[in-house]
Amino acid sequence: MGPAVFDYVAATSVAEAVKFLADHRGEAKVVAGGHSLIPLMKLRLASPAYLVDIGRIPGLAGISESNGTVRIGALATHHDVEESPIIRERVPVLAEAAAQIGDLQVRNKGTIGGSLAHADPAADYPAALLALDAEISATGSKGQRTLKVSDLFINLLTTALNPDEIITEVRVPALTGRTGSSYQKFPHPASRYAVVGVAAVIEISTSGNVERAAIGVTGAGAIPVRASVAEAALTGKAIDDVALGQAGDRAAEAIKDPLSDLHASAEYRRHLVRELAIRAIRVAAQRAMDM
Ligand SMILES: Cc1cc2nc3c(=O)[nH]c(=O)nc-3n(C[C@H](O)[C@H](O)[C@H](O)COP(=O)(O)OP(=O)(O)OC[C@H]3O[C@@H](n4cnc5c(N)ncnc54)[C@H](O)[C@@H]3O)c2cc1C
Repeated sequence: MGPAVFDYVAATSVAEAVKFLADHRGEAKVVAGGHSLIPLMKLRLASPAYLVDIGRIPGLAGISESNGTVRIGALATHHDVEESPIIRERVPVLAEAAAQIGDLQVRNKGTIGGSLAHADPAADYPAALLALDAEISATGSKGQRTLKVSDLFINLLTTALNPDEIITEVRVPALTGRTGSSYQKFPHPASRYAVVGVAAVIEISTSGNVERAAIGVTGAGAIPVRASVAEAALTGKAIDDVALGQAGDRAAEAIKDPLSDLHASAEYRRHLVRELAIRAIRVAAQRAMDM
């Protein structure tokens, strides 16, 4: 099936795109990489009257670092994120997550802004961005605002963005000290979407114990979550099988209402959260200790 008839507008600036969205509220949708929206339109699950292409707006795809903050333009593709020397050096878990998205074609077209705005429960980035305490900038007809990624996701495919708001930038604090990170994923065998994905950021103190732990989980529930009880359970402990097992149990408990579908039952998703959390924490801690 093809999409319903729509008009196409190529915006040349964020202001122009926002004005068009505001003037055609409810009828227009932004398109960036098109790798989530176009499939939905082909299935007629979305039928916007207008597509506002933001892909040609200059200055929205750069990746830079200043004062310990990594800035990623909303139009940076997954491939850009995967290959960026800044991201690999300063927030490697994000490059690790990007490298596991879909296939090469998806990574060459899909954008970080599009992935966040689409809020697919099986998307990879949210686990890493939650564990990294990332925030976004969004511009709409009422101006620009900052949102924590932890406040962005409201429900399945639903974000806190207003219909005329465009994500322009993702900001991530660079990791410092003896901090290791890891993203572990159980991919859907065909699409590579995350059935479950867990990102861990672990800082190890001079005594060899966990100084700080941050764990983000995607795929398991309607929205991605931080496993904060698991983080607290790890803090101050040495990384051994008991601590890892307890953290895995607490991470699984963080998923209050696991998704259950043809790909994985609720029980299996909880099991995956436990196992992937243990793997992600173990690898992240080892990377920190190797520094
Ligand atoms: C075969 C296949 C496999 C995939 N596998 C994975 C996977 O393993 N892991 C994974 O995470 N993803 C996967 N994806 C999704 C892919 O990463 C998408 O590219 C991404 O989720 C959406 O980015 P996009 O730029 O293509 O957005 P688009 O499709 O252009 O837009 C998606 C939605 O976001 C809105 N939007 C886009 N950009 C912005 C913006 N800057 N501000 C506000 N709203 C915006 C659009 O209006 C639309 O509602 C897969 C997709 C396909 C087709």
